[in-house]
Amino acid sequence: MDKKLLDILVCPLCKGKLEYDAEQAELICHFDKLAFPIRDDIPVMLEDEARSLPAGD
Ligand SMILES: [Zn+2]
Repeated sequence: MDKKLLDILVCPLCKGKLEYDAEQAELICHFDKLAFPIRDDIPVMLEDEARSLPAGD
């Protein structure tokens, strides 16, 4: 994924910075404990599409 794109992307909920997980192809918000999927190199920044991360991660 494009690093520049990652720099401008923020969490749609808390507007915080996201962490890119290349292995899972996900963008992670640690504040909301959500992982947003990346499909065909396009980040899906929708809460409905996000995966909840286990607590204590
Ligand atoms: Zn967030």
